[in-house]
Amino acid sequence: MTWETVIGLETHVELSTAQKLFCRCPAAFGAPPNTQCCGVCTGLPGALPVLNAQAVEYAVKAALALGCTVARRFTFDRKHYFYPDLPKGYQITQLRTPIGRDGAVTLPGGRAVHIAELHLEEDAGKLKRGDDGAVRCDYNRCGVPLIEIVTAPDFSSAEEVVAYLEALRATLQYLGVSDCKMQEGSLRCDVNLSLRPAGSRALGTRTELKNLASLKAIAQAIKHESARQAAVLEHGGAVTRETRRWSEDEGRSCAARSKEDALDYRYLPEPDLPPAALSEAYIAALAARQPELPGQRRARYQTAYGLGEYDAEMLTSQKALADFFEETVALGAPPKQCANWVLGEVLRALSARGLEAAALPLSPRTLARLIGLVETGGLNRNTAAVVFDAVFDSSADVDEYVRAHALEQIGDTDLIGRAAEEALAANPKSVADYRAGKEKALGFLVGQVMRSLGGKADPHAVNRAVRERLER
Ligand code: ADP
Ligand code: ZN
Ligand code: MG
Repeated sequence: MTWETVIGLETHVELSTAQKLFCRCPAAFGAPPNTQCCGVCTGLPGALPVLNAQAVEYAVKAALALGCTVARRFTFDRKHYFYPDLPKGYQITQLRTPIGRDGAVTLPGGRAVHIAELHLEEDAGKLKRGDDGAVRCDYNRCGVPLIEIVTAPDFSSAEEVVAYLEALRATLQYLGVSDCKMQEGSLRCDVNLSLRPAGSRALGTRTELKNLASLKAIAQAIKHESARQAAVLEHGGAVTRETRRWSEDEGRSCAARSKEDALDYRYLPEPDLPPAALSEAYIAALAARQPELPGQRRARYQTAYGLGEYDAEMLTSQKALADFFEETVALGAPPKQCANWVLGEVLRALSARGLEAAALPLSPRTLARLIGLVETGGLNRNTAAVVFDAVFDSSADVDEYVRAHALEQIGDTDLIGRAAEEALAANPKSVADYRAGKEKALGFLVGQVMRSLGGKADPHAVNRAVRERLER
């Protein structure tokens, strides 16, 4: 039997508000354990939650950017569970009235993924196992605002899921509502996956994969889980509805718990928070103030800079990369050359160092100067790539580096001419080959001249000098 994979995603995104969702504690990542807590976020008796208006604003901005219908009135619910990392014993979430419903994310190929809902809820703390084997609780993250974005079961492959997450991440980063750093847990994703016979419409029994900390892990886990379910079904078995934990080190998943139903969580309306209402004027004002989003920026790069669709798509896929590109162009770099450098050398250098675009050490000024030197003939393209590698991490002064290493492009035609003559004299066989019609010999001789001039000569001038002398 051929099986079709069906996937729906639940993505949790931490909002980058200054304070937590229901108290005034700072929401920042990375503080020493248990230094950002109060009675509200740790659930002490008598402490009352107060809704953070900035978190509502960020959630509404996200809902609008994802094309959701925004609730004019919304409420909160308590979801009970034994959470060792959430001492209240329940999570405040939105079961009945999510702040957004029925949106869409468009994938690069143009297909739209349906967003069933977007709701606001609080995060739990973190459990850390120490070297001594003891597990300790850090409650700093308790009460940090999250939005959970739930898609319809609209994906059929790992590639589509990754494309969706990249598009979602770009949108939220452009909005400035989250940094979406997967390595810091500010974007986390649960994968619901089932199989069905190809061509069938009914959904099969699904499992839910948790603990996926990178796009790579998500893609691997999806491939692995599809194959695991296919093997179960091929042997006449039935997939068990359960939550599975992915282990990146072992490259496999294992059953974590059987899936609870909503009833098991003993949801109840949150009694300490009144229903909230959003006015039309408030929503309209936020809609009017939305920043430029990735799709709009992509279109602008094509019209304003004359870039092709691929370049525009690649540059805008990460806000930090697009910002870097624009700043470099604003400093005078021609857009097409700049796009080539950013999508070539810059991306390569980032990936070699395992860095995200947001951590780019190179300054726009440095790249603009390097491109400028190539444009005006001060450096040849190959030497410029060497200088790029040398200054990437420090953004050291390009002109100084070029001077100190004597890398200026050699454009002196007398000097190049002499080198060409020497190369011809030293390689009579190549000269004869060329004159007998072997064009290829030209390339060899040009290479010899370039080498004798330390790779720094203007390649066009060298080509001209060699050809002239061969054809004399
Ligand atoms: P729950 O109440 O268990 O969280 P939801 O209906 O909210 O279930 O769905 C959670 C996620 O699982 C959604 O992204 C949804 O698209 C996805 N999903 C639901 N059923 C299936 C299925 N049979 N196969 C794959 N994904 C599914
Ligand atoms: Zn607090
Ligand atoms: Mg759900």
